[in-house]
Amino acid sequence: MNALDKRVLLAAPRGFCAGVIRAIQTVEAALERYGPPVYVRHEIVHNKHVVRTLEKKGVVFVEEAAQVPEGAAVIFSAHGVAPAVHEEAARQNLTTIDATCPLVTKVHKEAVRFAQQDYDILLVGHQGHEEVTATLGHAPHRIQLVDGPADVAHIEVRDPRKVVWLSQTTLSGDETMETVHALKEKFPGLVSPPSDDICYATQNRQLAVKQLAAEAELVIVIGSRNSSNSERLVDVAVQAGANAAHLVDSADEIDEAWLQSVTTVGVTSGASAPEILVEGVLDWLAAWGFTDVSTITAAKESLTFSLPQELRTDRRVQAPTPRARTRRRSPPDEPCRLTDVHTDLR
Ligand code: SF4
Repeated sequence: MNALDKRVLLAAPRGFCAGVIRAIQTVEAALERYGPPVYVRHEIVHNKHVVRTLEKKGVVFVEEAAQVPEGAAVIFSAHGVAPAVHEEAARQNLTTIDATCPLVTKVHKEAVRFAQQDYDILLVGHQGHEEVTATLGHAPHRIQLVDGPADVAHIEVRDPRKVVWLSQTTLSGDETMETVHALKEKFPGLVSPPSDDICYATQNRQLAVKQLAAEAELVIVIGSRNSSNSERLVDVAVQAGANAAHLVDSADEIDEAWLQSVTTVGVTSGASAPEILVEGVLDWLAAWGFTDVSTITAAKESLTFSLPQELRTDRRVQAPTPRARTRRRSPPDEPCRLTDVHTDLR
């Protein structure tokens, strides 16, 4: 095989989604406003590089709000928190800044609404994932987790005519539907969510990796092991035809043996992985003769989210009229320019 045969297919879109950009910008804005240390409950997003970079800037990551000094400010991560966590923070007199992705908040609101209507809610998701724990906490007496089709046999509901399914935002669409089909067989009256819970970023990254996996023998996914959407990209790549797919935090984790008899390598990154790590992987591949790089574009993305209300500077200078206040009640969809707050993690 000579160097002319070797090529790289680069997925687009890949890497940071709107929710991750907002979460990182939230931490940077809090550092600017309050100065270090700034406390963050759990990893702000599931990526080692992002977490280490923020730690160097003075961010302290804690497991529970109880570890934050009384009266300090704490940021809640993009994966969301249960209402009980807000209550605990209030008891400790903490200033809270909520960086929950608005698309996760949407699922929380659906859970609350269906619980109020007395539905049994079946949440398709992975046991122990922070987003799932937070969503379960929004309707604790009405919601049950379904972690794959094998779980369906154990699920019991009060009234099979009043049951709805929701899902974690970062699942594989195909695997989720397998679980939902099994649920529908057991509960034919199962109601579907009013709109997709698997978010646009997860869906677009899976669509792109499916396209490149059809041509690539090897797919390299850049992302951390606790990143659900990155793990799913590996699964989707294999299901879509790649001989092998590997998740790596950075180029340092690539094994040259993976390149044996490979002429086409697909490269993508999870929604919490910065582009600088993708560049490192492309440089590593170039050193092995994979210099011909083409981009496979499956979708265009333009969605952005504004910062949490607690950090918006315009809040201090604008006294909203009653009409304006009404409009501001649904802040998550307000657009925000990425340049509003500097981030050097991209
Ligand atoms: Fe939000 Fe989706 Fe990004 Fe998660 S992956 S932070 S739900 S946009």
